Amino acid sequence: MSAVATPTETALWRELGLRALDVAQRGGADWADVRLGRVEVEEIAIRNGRVARLEQSEQAGFGVRVLVDGAHGFASGFDVTPDEVERVANLAVRIAKAGRRAGPGRLQWAGEPAHRDVWTSTYLVDPFAVSLEKKLDLLMRADKVLRTKPEITATSCSMSFRRESQLFLSSEGADIEQRVVRSGAGISCVAHTDGETQVRSYPAAFGGNFMSVGYELVGSLDLVGNAERCRDEAIELLSADPCPVGETDIILSGDQLALQIHESVGHATELDRVQGWEANFAGTSFMDTGKLDGFRYGSDIVNLVADATVPGGLATVGYDDDGVRSQRWHIVQDGKFAAYQTSRDVAHFENNERSRGCSRAEGMWNVPIVRISNLSLMPGSWTFDDLVADTEDGIYMAGVKCWSIDQQRLNFQFTCEYGREIKNGQFGRLLKNPTYQGLTPQFWSACDAICAPEEWRLWGVPNCGKGQPMQTAEMSHGAAPTRFRKQAVGVRA
Ligand SMILES: [Zn+2]
Repeated sequence: MSAVATPTETALWRELGLRALDVAQRGGADWADVRLGRVEVEEIAIRNGRVARLEQSEQAGFGVRVLVDGAHGFASGFDVTPDEVERVANLAVRIAKAGRRAGPGRLQWAGEPAHRDVWTSTYLVDPFAVSLEKKLDLLMRADKVLRTKPEITATSCSMSFRRESQLFLSSEGADIEQRVVRSGAGISCVAHTDGETQVRSYPAAFGGNFMSVGYELVGSLDLVGNAERCRDEAIELLSADPCPVGETDIILSGDQLALQIHESVGHATELDRVQGWEANFAGTSFMDTGKLDGFRYGSDIVNLVADATVPGGLATVGYDDDGVRSQRWHIVQDGKFAAYQTSRDVAHFENNERSRGCSRAEGMWNVPIVRISNLSLMPGSWTFDDLVADTEDGIYMAGVKCWSIDQQRLNFQFTCEYGREIKNGQFGRLLKNPTYQGLTPQFWSACDAICAPEEWRLWGVPNCGKGQPMQTAEMSHGAAPTRFRKQAVGVRA
């Protein structure tokens, strides 16, 4: 694979990008931006001791977006040449003009200084410089440990790397070069006996953990060292008791809580979804703009912070795909709803003159839409041991297994991989298929204890789907083990 965008390549992108802006403006665009760049991906997966996936791909492309009389037009191409850039820029203008005639109203476009900058994510070891042999060897060794017991009937060990270079130019004079490197790895196994199947994953069930860092992430995860525990827990779960049905306190692991944050806060507070612009994939939201008036989202200790600047976050960039500088802000502060996640075209719906910088596209060839930022539950002060010792009657649940949430992001149910009963402050029986269900504000209002920063980690979600055509985005959620009082558990859908 070639290196990240060379100065020559960036110079070509700039020349063609400026040409696109010029064509768009001569065609009548009031605003135009263009993103040009390249995405490189490496995906490796071992299943049951064999290489099941080995993909090394690279895709260049560009997208032109224009505003004509308050209507957007977007078009994109993969052939980064002068003729194609001109054709696509003209097409974007034609689409905007067609939308102007048919559209329901003028788009409002929030202001932002025209930034000129170069931004690069930080990493220690370039994952694309590490040999394939080394990566395969590590995955094979982890897989071998997983398969050393006969109850294990399926295994999966994988790594995934991405490198993205992009140049953003706008008709206002913005010129932003960005380079992002991200890495991910994880293992998982299925144990089976007559009539019972259980799964256990490490470090999280999203296919591992993913961060905007380099290959050093893989070393820090110690996949081989954790394979034995992962394997044995899957086997122990085969003979575990089922999760009891009733109401009890639950302590959620960080990785499970990450998904809870994603589904019941992240998607619920995307302002395009709230406005009904987005109704796909459990689409709308109960968080109407009337709730900006201090709506009680959770208990006083619940602070949910969006942060596109946090080191290692998958949504950490210098600027979003609207050219807006990355920010950090409270979505929920001391339990009260404080703000949405916005792009330049929806910012005005929360009476904000500036976008919060959540506009992102998958690659250069998709139109940017509002995406969840890195969204985290701020840590508290408990140690995990003290939290368990303080729990009289409860269940610890870890590892995402499956879930569902309604269209309004209000009523949800989650099933975890691993449960442990807690009685009088002590761990008791192992419990299989632990489930809990609730309503978003009631659930967050029952949060009464959060573990300390030492237990807090960023969990990467690599596969958030939204839009039509569907786009995949990545973001991280920071969480520490957290307790929620009196939750309905053990209920089967
Ligand atoms: Zn999502």
